[in-house]
Amino acid sequence: MGVLEVLTEIISPVRCAGCGLPGLALCPACSATAPLIDPQRSCQRCGAPLQGRECSECAGRTFAFSRAICAGRLEPPLSRAVTFYKDAAERRYASLLGALLAEACECWRGWPDVVCALPPTRTALLRRGFDHTDAIARFVASGLDVPQASLLLVAVRDDQRQLGRDARFANVAGAFTVPQDAVVPRHILVVDDVLTTGATFDGAARALRAAGAVEVRVAAVARA
Ligand SMILES: [Zn+2]
Ligand SMILES: [Zn+2]
Repeated sequence: MGVLEVLTEIISPVRCAGCGLPGLALCPACSATAPLIDPQRSCQRCGAPLQGRECSECAGRTFAFSRAICAGRLEPPLSRAVTFYKDAAERRYASLLGALLAEACECWRGWPDVVCALPPTRTALLRRGFDHTDAIARFVASGLDVPQASLLLVAVRDDQRQLGRDARFANVAGAFTVPQDAVVPRHILVVDDVLTTGATFDGAARALRAAGAVEVRVAAVARA
């Protein structure tokens, strides 16, 4: 920790996303109640927690990515950590969210050639002032001992938080592009903070596969 970080911690310590206690991004008590998804009991295709054998979330839908993992559900304290991190620019939550996702992706060790963060749109980047997904992807890449690819995907469309499910899928066709001179690895793991319908990941996977990727898998910290 540098001098500036030490001073920041003294003046304004990081607070638990669950109970607000100063000192840790998630205290041990709140960590025990975090709504994590067991990868062994979740749908391989969309990452939803499974109730029975069949997944009701993704039945009848096709994705350009082959598999998905979500570390947890978008419920407190995880949802609060995500909000503090991306909307209140509390960047000290990056290590908590990154570590949670890195741990969830551990079962894919040896599979990806690279980890790639979903790039923010220009509007989102200007609004937040930082690339919130990039830091999370860094933890996943280092956890899996693979490089993090930058500049592999470029966002060309604006975000679609206001759109419904069908409109989201229609809107993501062409939402991402792969630069002409990019070297596209065969197996790519794409990372984002939240998976809602899977439409954004689908758009990214479609662009990567069109550019030559053999298989794309996706991972999100939380599932809405
Ligand atoms: Zn707590
Ligand atoms: Zn599913």
